[in-house]
Amino acid sequence: MARRTLIRACVLFCMAAGWGLPVSVWAKGGGPLAQVAPGVYVRPGAVQDATATNDDAIANIGFIIGHDAVAVIDPGGSAGDGAWLRARIKATTGLPIRYLIYTHVHPDHVLGAVAFADDHPVVVAHARFAAAWGERGAFYRQGLARILGGDLAQAGAKAGDALPPTEAVDTAADVDLGGRILHVAAYGAAHTDSDLTVYDGQTRTLWAGDLLFQGRIPALDGSLTGWLAVLGQLMALPAVRVVPGHGPAQLPWPAGAADEERYLTTLARDIRTLLKNGGDIDAAAATVARSERGRWKLFDAYNGRNAITAFKQLEWEDPS
Ligand SMILES: [Zn+2]
Repeated sequence: MARRTLIRACVLFCMAAGWGLPVSVWAKGGGPLAQVAPGVYVRPGAVQDATATNDDAIANIGFIIGHDAVAVIDPGGSAGDGAWLRARIKATTGLPIRYLIYTHVHPDHVLGAVAFADDHPVVVAHARFAAAWGERGAFYRQGLARILGGDLAQAGAKAGDALPPTEAVDTAADVDLGGRILHVAAYGAAHTDSDLTVYDGQTRTLWAGDLLFQGRIPALDGSLTGWLAVLGQLMALPAVRVVPGHGPAQLPWPAGAADEERYLTTLARDIRTLLKNGGDIDAAAATVARSERGRWKLFDAYNGRNAITAFKQLEWEDPS
């Protein structure tokens, strides 16, 4: 190997290994940071479940820069993922990180928050976030610690934690970055019961969190009919692009909603048909939305669960 090539290989390896050299531009699990619009940066997550190799860098995370300050939108899936994002922000701008915004309660989006503790940010979340985190936070942290491995204390530190919200959003709030206002909106139960979106009017960019999946099968943890209703509301916004919670860094809007709308509509239709024919919950898990199987990654891991969650909701509907 030529000397220059050898040095370059060593530098890249050392950076990736985090040996005191600059943090790699590549996250452990996801793609590199992309600027999808002026001042709007997104790191697409790996299309996988959490592993020790990907460090739970599986969600789309990023930040928006104003004249005076930076807002992080979802700080990452682990302490390491959050530290990676913070290093990329520091390499991009000298402005302070003044806001952390959580799109919802799922751990792949918020456990990296601990890496931003020294920034003392305003932490913006749905009004129901704190209660949901109180119920699930410890379970999420322990689950990820087991996946990341090492001794118990080490694994706990690697798993990270959410910082407690300091600003709870009931319906809507504005985040002022100086010359750039982000409009934060809170929703009823949809993907979860703590979903927020962020809209940057300056670039007409909608940050949808997990209200939008592309490529990876949507995971239902809230309300199927609620999610379809919220998706319809979002499609009416004047956004030109969307940042999904999972999938590429950006998609055109509202065209980018088409796959998810089709999947959720199919799930609801198939379960209603099954209910009408007297089918039970096991039949739902095994048979509904199978026409979608070739269209989504991780379909087999999540479709059955989605079907069970949706069945329990739709079986109480008035069939007339
Ligand atoms: Zn989620």
